Amino acid sequence: MPDDAFDCDVLVVGLGPVGAATAALLARRGVSVIAIERDTVVYPLPRAVHFDHEIMRLFQQLGIVDEVARHSVPVPPYEFRTADGDLLMSFPADLEAASGWAAGYMFHQPSLERALRDILATEPQVAVRLGWRFEALAQDADEVTARINGPEGPAEIRARYLVGCDGASSPVRQAIGGTLSDYGFDEPWLVVDVSVQPGARTPAVNLQVCDPERPTTCVMAGPGRHRWEFMLLPGETTDDVLKDGFIERLLLPWDCGAVEIERRAVYRFHGLVAEHWRAGRVLLAGDAAHQTPPFAGQGMCSGIRDAANLAWKLDLVLAGKVPDAILDTYGAERAPNVRQAIDFSVGLGRVICVPDPTAAAERDAAMIPAASDGQMIAISSRRIPAVALRNVCGNRARGAH
Ligand SMILES: Cc1cc2nc3c(=O)[nH]c(=O)nc-3n(C[C@H](O)[C@H](O)[C@H](O)COP(=O)(O)OP(=O)(O)OC[C@H]3O[C@@H](n4cnc5c(N)ncnc54)[C@H](O)[C@@H]3O)c2cc1C
Repeated sequence: MPDDAFDCDVLVVGLGPVGAATAALLARRGVSVIAIERDTVVYPLPRAVHFDHEIMRLFQQLGIVDEVARHSVPVPPYEFRTADGDLLMSFPADLEAASGWAAGYMFHQPSLERALRDILATEPQVAVRLGWRFEALAQDADEVTARINGPEGPAEIRARYLVGCDGASSPVRQAIGGTLSDYGFDEPWLVVDVSVQPGARTPAVNLQVCDPERPTTCVMAGPGRHRWEFMLLPGETTDDVLKDGFIERLLLPWDCGAVEIERRAVYRFHGLVAEHWRAGRVLLAGDAAHQTPPFAGQGMCSGIRDAANLAWKLDLVLAGKVPDAILDTYGAERAPNVRQAIDFSVGLGRVICVPDPTAAAERDAAMIPAASDGQMIAISSRRIPAVALRNVCGNRARGAH
C-alpha cells in the first residue's frame, strides 16, 4: 500500500489500451494505482485491428485471453497488389509463432479495451476515475502532484510516479515540455469499418491495393467485421469523405454483398517518437510517446510493450529493490524497438501511398519481378475470393470510383 502521504504509488493518466494495460500490470504486482480518464466511455471510432503474438502473451499474463479471443481471428496472409492485381509483396500468416499463439490477430479495439477495464474493476489496488481530466503537474525529488478536474470540481492527486498514457496530443507530454521527432510521413486516410452479414463476400486475405488512383487497405477486423482504409486525394475534405454516399461509392467495386457501415473516421497517418520518455517522476507510454502509421499494425502493440517494460521496473523501484536510475533504461530500451516498428511501417507506407502514376509504374516494374522470382514470398491468389480479385483487377483498374 502507498505511504500515507501519497494518494497512490502510480497515477496513470489516460485509460486507452496502454493506460489500462499499464494499470493492470502494475496492480498485478501489488502496486497501488489511480487511473484517471477524461472520457466516460471507451473511444468508439475505428483504430487498431491487429495485434501480434507477444501481445497475446501479455493478455495471457493478465488472464483475458478467452475474452480477447472472442473478439479476434488469427491473422490471414497480408498481400500488396497493384491496381491490376499483380503481387508486389506478401507476408505469410504463421499459424503458430514461437510463443505458441498465432503470429497475429485481427480484432475489435473497443471490445479489448472493455476487457482490460473489466480487470481493473476487480483489482482492489486500482481506483478508476472516469470523467476526470489531467490539467497540470508539479514534481520534486519525492513526489509528483497532478492537478485534475472532474465531476466534483478541481482536485489534486499526489503520487510517487505518474505515467502519461494520454494519447497523441498528450497533455502530460506538454506539461513536461516533451517534444517529438518527426519521420516526415503525413498522409490523410478515411477509415471505414463494416459489420459483415451472413452471405457477404469479403476477401479472405489482408490486402493493400497499391493503386495510384486510390491507395486502399482492406483487412479483417475481428469476427463479423471488415475494415477498409482509403487514402484521401488532393481536394477531398473530411466532411465530404465521411458522407454515406461517398463511402458507398468507394465500397461498390468490392461487390461484397451484405455489409453494413458501422464506424468511420479520418486520420492523418504519421510517424513520431518522443525525444525523452522520462522527466523525473513522469514517464510517457503509448501514443503519448510515439505514433506509428497503421500499415504494420504496431502502434498499440508498441504501447503495450511500453507498459510491460515499465510495470516491473516501477514495481522494483517502489519496493526499494533497485535504484530509480533503472527507469532511465525504459526509454533507452523502448525507443529503438519503437523506431524499428515506425521505420518498417513508414517503409510499407511509402510502397502504398504513391498517387503519382509514373512513380507507381516504376515501383511495380521493380517489385513484380522480385515477387514472382520468389525474392518476396508469394501467396497464391487463390486465397483471394475470385469476386474480390476481379474487382481489384477489373472494376478498379477501369476507374470505377
Ligand atoms: C486507423 C488506425 C488504425 C490503427 N491500427 C492499428 C493496428 O492495427 N494495430 C496497432 O497496434 N495499432 C494500431 N493503431 C494505433 C492504435 O490505435 C493506438 O496506438 C492506440 O490506440 C494508442 O493507445 P493509447 O492508450 O496510447 O492512447 P489512446 O487510446 O489515444 O488513449 C489515450 C486516452 O487518454 C485520454 N486523455 C487524453 N487527455 C486526457 C487528459 N487531459 N486527462 C485524462 N485523460 C486524457 C483520452 O481520452 C484517451 O482515452 C491504429 C490507429 C489508427 C488511427
